[in-house]
Amino acid sequence: MKSWQTVSVSGGLGAYENTFESLGRISIPDLREKKMLIKPNAGRMFKPGEGVTTDPQVVAGVIDFLRKRGGEKIFLGESPILGVKTLEALEITGIAEVCRKRDIPLIDLDYEPPVVTPVKKGKLLRSLKICREVVNADFIVSVPVMKTHMHTVVSLGIKNMKGCLRKKEKVRLHQIERKEEICGTNKTLDIAIADMTTVLLPDLTVVDGTVGMEGFGPSSGDKKPFGVVVSGIDPFLTDAVSATLMGIDPEKIPHLVLSALRKKRTVRLEEVNLIPFDAISRWKNPFELPPQEISCQYQHVVVHDHDSCSACLSSVMLFLKRYQEAVKDYRLSDGCFHIALGKDVNNFPEGTLLVGDCAVKHGCGGVPVKGCPPVASHILEVLNEKGKSSSN
Ligand code: SF4
Repeated sequence: MKSWQTVSVSGGLGAYENTFESLGRISIPDLREKKMLIKPNAGRMFKPGEGVTTDPQVVAGVIDFLRKRGGEKIFLGESPILGVKTLEALEITGIAEVCRKRDIPLIDLDYEPPVVTPVKKGKLLRSLKICREVVNADFIVSVPVMKTHMHTVVSLGIKNMKGCLRKKEKVRLHQIERKEEICGTNKTLDIAIADMTTVLLPDLTVVDGTVGMEGFGPSSGDKKPFGVVVSGIDPFLTDAVSATLMGIDPEKIPHLVLSALRKKRTVRLEEVNLIPFDAISRWKNPFELPPQEISCQYQHVVVHDHDSCSACLSSVMLFLKRYQEAVKDYRLSDGCFHIALGKDVNNFPEGTLLVGDCAVKHGCGGVPVKGCPPVASHILEVLNEKGKSSSN
């Protein structure tokens, strides 16, 4: 096998030590003179240990390893979900602190105007607005958290690259008009991610499974302490090994399979030089998959969702998780509390809470909660306002 087929798994040590050990078995190219971007998963305002954002000690391990291998020009950047400020997110996740200690510049990837990049082999996308600092980097290290994802089954190294698209461009991937002749049985989002990978892939992937997320990922699932780190040069094989450790067959993850096909690569484990060879049997620890239906989790709550982004759906899930008591007062005549979201949502009863700008557009007779996406606390504010006005 070729050296790029190596995928290395480390577990049982601390987050920093796992990272250093797993990277130490990978054959890394000469990093001197290379401008290196570390792209963590830090697009949301969560503290470390919640399974949402990359563990700061994994980031520390990546930085120290790259330096040990001759890397000098290292910076770390993120373009978070809309409504979140990059530097604030890096601060709360603990990533800013480890970077400051190591003199690593933090970059708000949304600051510079994007580079509009043609997607020549795109099936749905013709171009993408990629953050300038990403295009200017010579070597990109994707450092995602090991998570399940409500729309894409998993969120790993390839999916993490969506955070290299500038601001609303990330959301655009969810809003593309469906073309049956192109999509067939696939979701538009999976095809769009495969289009993205024809122009945007990491050079090195380090999957942080210190505390992963299962169930309703990427941000409203349950944290899953796992204690492994997976590293590899080939992003498809690295994601495939990570998924397998999560108990998910990589060949059943559409965005992964479609992306690999486009690049004439594979997600088959037979193609992996796995170190240690028994990593799967040693550390496999199945993750709960996202539920197919949201409503069934909460009694007397009906969610009307048609093609929403994970950002809006996560806000709704967080809202229901935190404030399920509050919604009792806002049930409609059928005895249920109704929420609608997504770009093609329709057929909801009058009085339904319309979450996000997409649903608001269709909002005849609904209660609008503007935002793209609105945060959970804002949804509650709108609900409380409605309560006040109806009691006056
Ligand atoms: S309003 Fe929500 S569903 Fe619509 S584009 Fe924004 S985040 Fe996505």
